[in-house]
Amino acid sequence: MISLEEFAAHWKMPVTPWMAVHRVYPFVLSRHFADLIRAPEDPLWRQVVPDSRELDESDPAGLKDPLGEESRSPVPNLVHRYPDRVLWIVTDACAVHCRFCTRKRRWTHPLPLSDELIGEALRYIRKNPAIHDVILSGGDPLMLPWERLEELAAKVREIPHVRLLRLGTRVPFADPGRVTPAVARRLAAYGPLYMNIHVNHPWEITQESREACRLLADAGIPLGSQTVLLKDINDSAEVLGTLFTELLSLRVRPYYLLHMDLMQGTAHFRTPLAAGAELMAALRNRISGLAIPHFVVDLPNGLGKVPITASAVVRVDPDHVVLRNFAGHAAAYPLKPEEGSRLRRVLGLD
Ligand SMILES: *Cc1c(COP(=O)(O)O)cnc(C)c1O
Ligand code: SF4
Repeated sequence: MISLEEFAAHWKMPVTPWMAVHRVYPFVLSRHFADLIRAPEDPLWRQVVPDSRELDESDPAGLKDPLGEESRSPVPNLVHRYPDRVLWIVTDACAVHCRFCTRKRRWTHPLPLSDELIGEALRYIRKNPAIHDVILSGGDPLMLPWERLEELAAKVREIPHVRLLRLGTRVPFADPGRVTPAVARRLAAYGPLYMNIHVNHPWEITQESREACRLLADAGIPLGSQTVLLKDINDSAEVLGTLFTELLSLRVRPYYLLHMDLMQGTAHFRTPLAAGAELMAALRNRISGLAIPHFVVDLPNGLGKVPITASAVVRVDPDHVVLRNFAGHAAAYPLKPEEGSRLRRVLGLD
Protein backbone atom coordinates (compact mmCIF):
# COMPACT_ATOMS: atom_id res chain seq x y z
CA MET A 1 0.00 0.00 0.00
CA ILE A 2 1.10 3.53 -0.71
CA SER A 3 0.28 6.35 1.72
CA LEU A 4 -1.41 9.54 0.63
CA GLU A 5 1.72 11.53 1.56
CA GLU A 6 3.89 9.29 -0.58
CA PHE A 7 1.43 9.49 -3.45
CA ALA A 8 1.34 13.31 -3.28
CA ALA A 9 5.14 13.47 -3.13
CA HIS A 10 5.43 11.22 -6.17
CA TRP A 11 3.24 13.56 -8.21
CA LYS A 12 4.82 16.67 -6.63
CA MET A 13 1.45 17.85 -5.37
CA PRO A 14 0.44 19.24 -1.97
CA VAL A 15 -1.37 16.70 0.18
CA THR A 16 -3.51 19.26 2.05
CA PRO A 17 -6.37 19.61 -0.48
CA TRP A 18 -7.00 15.86 -0.19
CA MET A 19 -6.89 15.62 3.61
CA ALA A 20 -10.48 16.68 4.35
CA VAL A 21 -11.84 14.01 2.01
CA HIS A 22 -9.32 11.45 3.24
CA ARG A 23 -10.53 11.90 6.84
CA VAL A 24 -14.11 11.01 5.87
CA TYR A 25 -13.35 8.51 3.10
CA PRO A 26 -9.79 7.23 3.55
CA PHE A 27 -7.42 6.89 0.62
CA VAL A 28 -6.25 3.32 0.00
CA LEU A 29 -4.13 2.37 -3.00
CA SER A 30 -2.03 -0.65 -3.83
CA ARG A 31 1.44 -0.05 -5.26
CA HIS A 32 0.46 -2.05 -8.30
CA PHE A 33 -2.51 0.20 -9.12
CA ALA A 34 -0.52 3.36 -8.27
CA ASP A 35 2.07 2.35 -10.88
CA LEU A 36 -0.63 2.08 -13.57
CA ILE A 37 -1.56 5.76 -13.30
CA ARG A 38 -0.04 7.58 -16.29
CA ALA A 39 -0.99 11.18 -15.53
CA PRO A 40 -3.11 13.27 -13.16
CA GLU A 41 -6.82 12.99 -13.92
CA ASP A 42 -6.36 9.97 -16.19
CA PRO A 43 -9.01 7.18 -16.06
CA LEU A 44 -7.18 5.32 -13.29
CA TRP A 45 -6.37 8.41 -11.23
CA ARG A 46 -10.03 9.46 -11.15
CA GLN A 47 -11.09 6.10 -9.76
CA VAL A 48 -8.86 6.26 -6.69
CA VAL A 49 -7.76 9.82 -5.88
CA PRO A 50 -9.88 11.80 -3.38
CA ASP A 51 -11.96 14.63 -4.81
CA SER A 52 -13.64 17.38 -2.78
CA ARG A 53 -16.92 16.69 -4.60
CA GLU A 54 -17.22 13.52 -2.50
CA LEU A 55 -18.12 15.71 0.48
CA ASP A 56 -20.91 17.46 -1.40
CA GLU A 57 -24.16 16.53 0.30
CA SER A 58 -26.40 18.67 -1.92
CA ASP A 59 -27.24 15.95 -4.46
CA PRO A 60 -30.99 15.43 -3.89
CA ALA A 61 -30.78 11.86 -5.22
CA GLY A 62 -27.74 10.91 -3.08
CA LEU A 63 -28.14 8.18 -0.45
CA LYS A 64 -25.86 6.91 2.33
CA ASP A 65 -26.80 3.27 1.76
CA PRO A 66 -28.00 3.39 -1.87
CA LEU A 67 -29.02 -0.27 -2.09
CA GLY A 68 -30.75 -0.36 1.28
CA GLU A 69 -28.42 -3.13 2.37
CA GLU A 70 -28.58 -2.47 6.10
CA SER A 71 -32.35 -2.90 6.16
CA ARG A 72 -32.07 -6.13 4.20
CA SER A 73 -29.51 -7.74 6.47
CA PRO A 74 -31.27 -10.27 8.71
CA VAL A 75 -27.96 -10.67 10.56
CA PRO A 76 -25.09 -8.17 10.39
CA ASN A 77 -23.08 -8.31 7.14
CA LEU A 78 -25.43 -10.72 5.37
CA VAL A 79 -27.65 -9.14 2.70
CA HIS A 80 -30.61 -11.31 1.79
CA ARG A 81 -32.34 -9.59 -1.10
CA TYR A 82 -33.34 -12.39 -3.47
CA PRO A 83 -34.91 -15.58 -2.10
CA ASP A 84 -32.22 -18.04 -3.19
CA ARG A 85 -29.06 -15.93 -2.79
CA VAL A 86 -27.23 -14.09 -0.04
CA LEU A 87 -24.41 -11.60 -0.25
CA TRP A 88 -22.02 -11.92 2.65
CA ILE A 89 -19.77 -8.98 3.47
CA VAL A 90 -16.79 -10.85 4.89
CA THR A 91 -14.35 -7.93 5.16
CA ASP A 92 -14.21 -4.18 4.64
CA ALA A 93 -10.61 -4.18 3.39
CA CYS A 94 -9.85 -3.52 -0.29
CA ALA A 95 -6.73 -3.28 -2.44
CA VAL A 96 -7.85 0.18 -3.54
CA HIS A 97 -10.60 2.48 -2.31
CA CYS A 98 -12.73 3.22 -5.36
CA ARG A 99 -14.00 6.74 -4.81
CA PHE A 100 -17.41 5.76 -6.25
CA CYS A 101 -17.84 2.72 -3.97
CA THR A 102 -21.40 1.96 -2.97
CA ARG A 103 -20.25 0.70 0.45
CA LYS A 104 -17.88 3.53 1.33
CA ARG A 105 -20.10 4.28 4.34
CA ARG A 106 -18.34 1.32 5.94
CA TRP A 107 -14.76 2.49 5.38
CA THR A 108 -14.52 4.33 8.68
CA HIS A 109 -17.08 2.11 10.43
CA PRO A 110 -16.05 -1.39 9.45
CA LEU A 111 -17.91 -4.26 11.06
CA PRO A 112 -15.26 -6.60 12.39
CA LEU A 113 -15.45 -10.19 11.23
CA SER A 114 -15.76 -11.67 14.69
CA ASP A 115 -16.26 -15.38 15.27
CA GLU A 116 -19.63 -14.49 16.73
CA LEU A 117 -20.83 -12.68 13.58
CA ILE A 118 -19.47 -15.46 11.35
CA GLY A 119 -21.40 -17.97 13.44
CA GLU A 120 -24.59 -15.91 13.16
CA ALA A 121 -24.33 -15.66 9.38
CA LEU A 122 -23.62 -19.37 8.99
CA ARG A 123 -26.55 -20.26 11.25
CA TYR A 124 -28.85 -18.06 9.15
CA ILE A 125 -27.74 -19.75 5.92
CA ARG A 126 -28.03 -23.19 7.49
CA LYS A 127 -31.60 -22.70 8.65
CA ASN A 128 -32.75 -21.27 5.28
CA PRO A 129 -32.82 -24.16 2.82
CA ALA A 130 -33.95 -21.82 0.03
CA ILE A 131 -30.45 -20.32 -0.08
CA HIS A 132 -28.55 -22.01 -2.90
CA ASP A 133 -25.99 -19.38 -3.73
CA VAL A 134 -23.63 -17.60 -1.34
CA ILE A 135 -21.70 -14.59 -2.60
CA LEU A 136 -18.60 -13.73 -0.60
CA SER A 137 -18.21 -9.99 -0.96
CA GLY A 138 -16.87 -6.99 0.89
CA GLY A 139 -14.71 -5.11 0.76
CA ASP A 140 -12.64 -7.67 -1.00
CA PRO A 141 -12.57 -11.27 0.23
CA LEU A 142 -9.15 -11.80 -1.38
CA MET A 143 -7.75 -9.27 1.11
CA LEU A 144 -8.54 -11.62 4.00
CA PRO A 145 -5.74 -13.66 5.50
CA TRP A 146 -5.75 -16.77 3.37
CA GLU A 147 -6.57 -19.16 6.26
CA ARG A 148 -9.58 -17.04 7.20
CA LEU A 149 -11.00 -17.10 3.66
CA GLU A 150 -10.42 -20.83 3.39
CA GLU A 151 -12.17 -21.37 6.72
CA LEU A 152 -15.21 -19.39 5.52
CA ALA A 153 -15.34 -21.21 2.17
CA ALA A 154 -15.07 -24.57 3.94
CA LYS A 155 -17.85 -23.73 6.41
CA VAL A 156 -20.21 -22.58 3.66
CA ARG A 157 -19.41 -25.72 1.66
CA GLU A 158 -20.47 -27.90 4.59
CA ILE A 159 -24.04 -26.61 4.24
CA PRO A 160 -25.74 -29.17 1.99
CA HIS A 161 -28.29 -26.86 0.31
CA VAL A 162 -25.65 -24.33 -0.81
CA ARG A 163 -24.86 -25.27 -4.39
CA LEU A 164 -22.87 -22.30 -5.57
CA LEU A 165 -20.19 -20.23 -4.01
CA ARG A 166 -19.34 -16.91 -5.59
CA LEU A 167 -16.63 -14.44 -4.76
CA GLY A 168 -16.52 -10.78 -5.79
CA THR A 169 -13.06 -9.19 -5.93
CA ARG A 170 -10.99 -6.44 -7.48
CA VAL A 171 -7.68 -8.05 -6.47
CA PRO A 172 -6.77 -9.83 -9.76
CA PHE A 173 -6.51 -6.40 -11.43
CA ALA A 174 -5.83 -4.12 -8.45
CA ASP A 175 -3.19 -6.22 -6.69
CA PRO A 176 -2.58 -9.31 -8.85
CA GLY A 177 0.47 -10.46 -6.86
CA ARG A 178 -1.92 -11.73 -4.18
CA VAL A 179 -3.16 -14.42 -6.57
CA THR A 180 -0.58 -17.19 -6.30
CA PRO A 181 -0.74 -20.71 -7.76
CA ALA A 182 -1.48 -22.06 -4.25
CA VAL A 183 -4.33 -19.58 -3.68
CA ALA A 184 -5.91 -20.43 -7.03
CA ARG A 185 -5.60 -24.18 -6.50
CA ARG A 186 -6.90 -24.17 -2.95
CA LEU A 187 -9.82 -21.85 -3.72
CA ALA A 188 -10.83 -24.05 -6.64
CA ALA A 189 -11.16 -26.95 -4.20
CA TYR A 190 -14.33 -25.30 -2.82
CA GLY A 191 -15.95 -25.24 -6.24
CA PRO A 192 -18.22 -24.76 -7.95
CA LEU A 193 -16.88 -21.32 -7.14
CA TYR A 194 -17.49 -18.49 -9.57
CA MET A 195 -15.27 -15.46 -9.32
CA ASN A 196 -16.60 -12.10 -10.40
CA ILE A 197 -13.85 -9.56 -10.94
CA HIS A 198 -14.31 -5.79 -10.74
CA VAL A 199 -12.44 -4.08 -13.59
CA ASN A 200 -13.24 -0.76 -15.25
CA HIS A 201 -10.64 0.21 -17.81
CA PRO A 202 -8.33 -1.53 -20.33
CA TRP A 203 -5.28 0.05 -18.67
CA GLU A 204 -5.94 -2.14 -15.65
CA ILE A 205 -4.97 -5.15 -17.74
CA THR A 206 -1.28 -5.86 -17.33
CA GLN A 207 1.14 -8.77 -17.59
CA GLU A 208 0.62 -9.46 -13.87
CA SER A 209 -3.17 -9.41 -14.06
CA ARG A 210 -3.12 -11.62 -17.14
CA GLU A 211 -1.09 -14.09 -15.13
CA ALA A 212 -3.50 -13.88 -12.16
CA CYS A 213 -6.46 -14.64 -14.46
CA ARG A 214 -4.54 -17.48 -16.10
CA LEU A 215 -3.83 -19.08 -12.71
CA LEU A 216 -7.47 -18.81 -11.63
CA ALA A 217 -8.87 -20.08 -14.94
CA ASP A 218 -6.35 -22.92 -15.14
CA ALA A 219 -7.31 -23.94 -11.61
CA GLY A 220 -10.88 -24.36 -12.89
CA ILE A 221 -12.50 -21.24 -11.47
CA PRO A 222 -15.02 -19.74 -13.93
CA LEU A 223 -14.32 -16.02 -14.20
CA GLY A 224 -16.76 -13.18 -14.84
CA SER A 225 -16.37 -9.43 -14.66
CA GLN A 226 -18.30 -6.50 -13.41
CA THR A 227 -17.65 -2.99 -14.57
CA VAL A 228 -19.06 0.24 -13.21
CA LEU A 229 -20.01 2.70 -15.93
CA LEU A 230 -18.11 5.85 -14.93
CA LYS A 231 -18.43 9.30 -16.45
CA ASP A 232 -15.26 10.50 -18.22
CA ILE A 233 -13.50 7.24 -17.29
CA ASN A 234 -14.95 4.43 -19.38
CA ASP A 235 -18.18 5.81 -20.90
CA SER A 236 -17.25 5.26 -24.53
CA ALA A 237 -17.94 2.36 -26.86
CA GLU A 238 -14.29 2.23 -27.83
CA VAL A 239 -13.02 1.91 -24.23
CA LEU A 240 -15.69 -0.60 -23.20
CA GLY A 241 -15.34 -2.60 -26.43
CA THR A 242 -11.60 -2.90 -25.86
CA LEU A 243 -12.07 -3.81 -22.21
CA PHE A 244 -14.70 -6.49 -22.84
CA THR A 245 -12.87 -8.18 -25.73
CA GLU A 246 -9.57 -8.15 -23.81
CA LEU A 247 -11.30 -9.71 -20.81
CA LEU A 248 -12.72 -12.43 -22.99
CA SER A 249 -9.20 -13.28 -24.17
CA LEU A 250 -8.24 -13.70 -20.48
CA ARG A 251 -11.14 -16.17 -20.09
CA VAL A 252 -13.09 -13.57 -18.09
CA ARG A 253 -16.67 -13.44 -19.33
CA PRO A 254 -18.13 -9.92 -19.05
CA TYR A 255 -21.13 -10.26 -16.73
CA TYR A 256 -22.46 -6.91 -15.56
CA LEU A 257 -22.03 -3.32 -16.64
CA LEU A 258 -23.45 -1.43 -13.68
CA HIS A 259 -25.03 1.98 -13.74
CA MET A 260 -23.56 4.07 -10.91
CA ASP A 261 -25.50 3.67 -7.67
CA LEU A 262 -26.99 6.76 -6.05
CA MET A 263 -24.24 6.94 -3.43
CA GLN A 264 -24.03 10.35 -1.84
CA GLY A 265 -21.10 12.45 -3.09
CA THR A 266 -20.57 10.45 -6.29
CA ALA A 267 -22.75 12.43 -8.71
CA HIS A 268 -19.63 13.39 -10.68
CA PHE A 269 -19.19 9.74 -11.67
CA ARG A 270 -22.78 9.22 -12.78
CA THR A 271 -23.78 8.97 -16.44
CA PRO A 272 -27.33 9.53 -17.71
CA LEU A 273 -29.35 6.32 -17.43
CA ALA A 274 -29.65 6.17 -21.22
CA ALA A 275 -25.87 6.16 -21.70
CA GLY A 276 -25.28 2.53 -20.73
CA ALA A 277 -28.07 1.24 -22.95
CA GLU A 278 -26.78 3.35 -25.85
CA LEU A 279 -23.26 2.01 -25.37
CA MET A 280 -24.48 -1.57 -25.27
CA ALA A 281 -26.47 -0.98 -28.46
CA ALA A 282 -23.35 0.46 -30.08
CA LEU A 283 -21.36 -2.66 -29.15
CA ARG A 284 -24.02 -5.24 -30.06
CA ASN A 285 -22.83 -7.34 -33.02
CA ARG A 286 -19.71 -5.18 -33.38
CA ILE A 287 -17.84 -7.25 -30.82
CA SER A 288 -18.31 -10.92 -29.99
CA GLY A 289 -21.64 -11.63 -28.33
CA LEU A 290 -19.72 -13.39 -25.57
CA ALA A 291 -18.11 -10.05 -24.72
CA ILE A 292 -21.44 -8.29 -24.09
CA PRO A 293 -22.43 -7.95 -20.41
CA HIS A 294 -25.89 -7.10 -19.08
CA PHE A 295 -26.33 -3.39 -18.41
CA VAL A 296 -28.22 -3.07 -15.13
CA VAL A 297 -29.31 -0.46 -12.68
CA ASP A 298 -29.48 -1.51 -9.04
CA LEU A 299 -32.66 -0.01 -7.60
CA PRO A 300 -32.65 1.89 -4.30
CA ASN A 301 -34.06 0.19 -1.18
CA GLY A 302 -32.73 -3.18 -2.24
CA LEU A 303 -35.32 -3.71 -4.94
CA GLY A 304 -32.76 -5.43 -7.11
CA LYS A 305 -30.91 -5.22 -10.40
CA VAL A 306 -32.95 -4.33 -13.47
CA PRO A 307 -31.64 -4.58 -17.03
CA ILE A 308 -31.96 -1.53 -19.26
CA THR A 309 -31.80 -2.42 -22.92
CA ALA A 310 -32.27 -0.41 -26.07
CA SER A 311 -35.19 -1.89 -27.94
CA ALA A 312 -34.59 -3.21 -31.43
CA VAL A 313 -38.33 -3.12 -32.02
CA VAL A 314 -39.50 -0.34 -34.33
CA ARG A 315 -43.17 -1.36 -34.55
CA VAL A 316 -45.48 -4.30 -33.95
CA ASP A 317 -47.96 -4.75 -36.82
CA PRO A 318 -50.75 -7.39 -36.95
CA ASP A 319 -48.77 -9.92 -38.98
CA HIS A 320 -45.17 -8.82 -38.51
CA VAL A 321 -42.81 -6.95 -36.24
CA VAL A 322 -40.32 -4.44 -37.61
CA LEU A 323 -36.87 -4.88 -36.04
CA ARG A 324 -33.82 -2.72 -36.47
CA ASN A 325 -30.45 -4.48 -36.73
CA PHE A 326 -27.10 -3.22 -35.44
CA ALA A 327 -26.37 -1.35 -38.68
CA GLY A 328 -29.69 0.50 -38.52
CA HIS A 329 -31.46 -1.52 -41.22
CA ALA A 330 -35.12 -2.28 -40.54
CA ALA A 331 -36.37 -5.78 -41.29
CA ALA A 332 -39.85 -7.31 -41.04
CA TYR A 333 -40.15 -10.57 -39.09
CA PRO A 334 -43.40 -12.54 -39.51
CA LEU A 335 -45.88 -13.00 -36.64
CA LYS A 336 -48.84 -15.36 -36.30
CA PRO A 337 -52.18 -13.59 -35.72
CA GLU A 338 -52.26 -13.96 -31.92
CA GLU A 339 -48.60 -13.15 -31.39
CA GLY A 340 -48.73 -9.39 -31.80
CA SER A 341 -50.54 -8.51 -28.57
CA ARG A 342 -48.39 -10.89 -26.52
CA LEU A 343 -45.24 -9.34 -27.94
CA ARG A 344 -46.54 -5.84 -27.27
CA ARG A 345 -47.22 -6.82 -23.67
CA VAL A 346 -43.83 -8.33 -22.96
CA LEU A 347 -42.13 -5.32 -24.54
CA GLY A 348 -44.16 -2.96 -22.40
CA LEU A 349 -45.77 -1.30 -25.43
CA ASP A 350 -49.33 -1.69 -24.13
C1 LIG B 1 -26.03 -8.35 -7.12
C2 LIG B 1 -26.52 -9.05 -5.94
C3 LIG B 1 -26.76 -10.42 -5.96
C4 LIG B 1 -26.44 -11.29 -7.15
O1 LIG B 1 -27.25 -11.02 -8.24
P1 LIG B 1 -27.08 -11.87 -9.57
O2 LIG B 1 -27.95 -11.17 -10.53
O3 LIG B 1 -27.52 -13.26 -9.26
O4 LIG B 1 -25.63 -11.84 -9.94
C5 LIG B 1 -27.28 -11.02 -4.84
N1 LIG B 1 -27.55 -10.31 -3.72
C6 LIG B 1 -27.32 -8.98 -3.66
C7 LIG B 1 -27.64 -8.27 -2.41
C8 LIG B 1 -26.80 -8.31 -4.76
O5 LIG B 1 -26.54 -7.00 -4.69
S1 SF4 C 1 -13.17 -2.84 -4.65
FE1 SF4 C 1 -15.41 -2.83 -4.49
S2 SF4 C 1 -15.84 -2.77 -2.28
FE2 SF4 C 1 -13.68 -2.18 -2.56
S3 SF4 C 1 -13.71 0.05 -2.69
FE3 SF4 C 1 -13.83 -0.71 -4.78
S4 SF4 C 1 -16.02 -0.80 -5.24
FE4 SF4 C 1 -15.80 -0.66 -2.98
